[in-house]
Amino acid sequence: MTVLTDSYGRRIKSMRLSITDRCNFRCVYCMPAEGLPWLPKADILTYEELARVARVAVGMGVEQLRLTGGEPLVRRDVPELVRMLHAIPGLRSLSLTTNGTRLPQLAAPLAAAGLTRINVSLDTLIPHKFFQLTRRDALDSVLAGLAALEAFPQITPIKVNAVAMRGFTEDEVLAFAALARRKPYVIRWIEFMPLDADGIWRKEDILTGAEILAIIEAQYGPMVRITGGDAAETARRYRFPDGVGEVGFINPVSEPFCATCDRIRLTAEGGLRTCLFSHEETDLRATLRDGGSDDDLAAAIRAAVWHKELKHHINDGQFTRTQRSMSMIGG
Ligand code: SAM
Ligand code: SF4
Repeated sequence: MTVLTDSYGRRIKSMRLSITDRCNFRCVYCMPAEGLPWLPKADILTYEELARVARVAVGMGVEQLRLTGGEPLVRRDVPELVRMLHAIPGLRSLSLTTNGTRLPQLAAPLAAAGLTRINVSLDTLIPHKFFQLTRRDALDSVLAGLAALEAFPQITPIKVNAVAMRGFTEDEVLAFAALARRKPYVIRWIEFMPLDADGIWRKEDILTGAEILAIIEAQYGPMVRITGGDAAETARRYRFPDGVGEVGFINPVSEPFCATCDRIRLTAEGGLRTCLFSHEETDLRATLRDGGSDDDLAAAIRAAVWHKELKHHINDGQFTRTQRSMSMIGG
């Protein structure tokens, strides 16, 4: 096997598969309140097509797969897809990013199918703020979904991801910190990125990981940095001084990690993206549906990866937004 490497020497080990553009939420940092018509079903990759691309990618050295969307759990029979992916030889980690609403019903079948990791998105613990942000009244079902996961220790860690936004997040930092100590959840704040459909993102809206850490340390004292592990780890991880609980910060804007990026993404309709902010995609669906062989798929993936972007340009004058917003990419 020749490993998948880009022209800057970065080895690709992680692939995100968006399995639907649909969602039962309308988060303000992601989707518009209305509109954004769903893709026709025929345009979306089937589970067989997704598993085929994944198998080829794993054969090229991809070790981690993450299912995302849209909301992946609104697609039918996701445990069946998990079962198909779990069977791929050489795969080390199979994870899912979800808004959590369907976990009360799906935690058990997902665990049985071989899911090993999960990220649940949750930005606030206050019902009216939850409604303001997601435009849905569903906080209880997300909390129930998180609680349902606790019965399945084979899915670990349970990560809770919160998008950090100035003026929204600060007054709940300590409530989330307390949650990280009370429950077996790793809370991670991620900086707001210019990927919302409404174009509301402003640099001033970013609340940095450093600012959130300062709020936590003012309450608990100096946090203990957890180092080592994977060089491509995007989160800066910290334990509380007494050893109870872990939090993390994903700081793509204030501390970009492009230099160690090991990720590629597949959109729900089979577009291979080598950066969240890519302006171009490689159409793997065409290769799949025009009778291309596994070697053809591998060649298309290798060629796309070779041109992987050096970095995002959010912090310099060259930045232009991509046409797609987050739910259409697969975050
Ligand atoms: N629907 C699922 C969910 O919300 O977890 C999966 C898809 S969602 C696009 C994936 C992740 O992207 C979520 O954690 C969400 O909070 C995050 N996200 C969406 N828009 C974002 C933005 N503009 N900046 C930073 N993170 C964003
Ligand atoms: Fe849906 Fe996830 Fe986007 Fe929220 S962040 S609108 S839950 S895809």
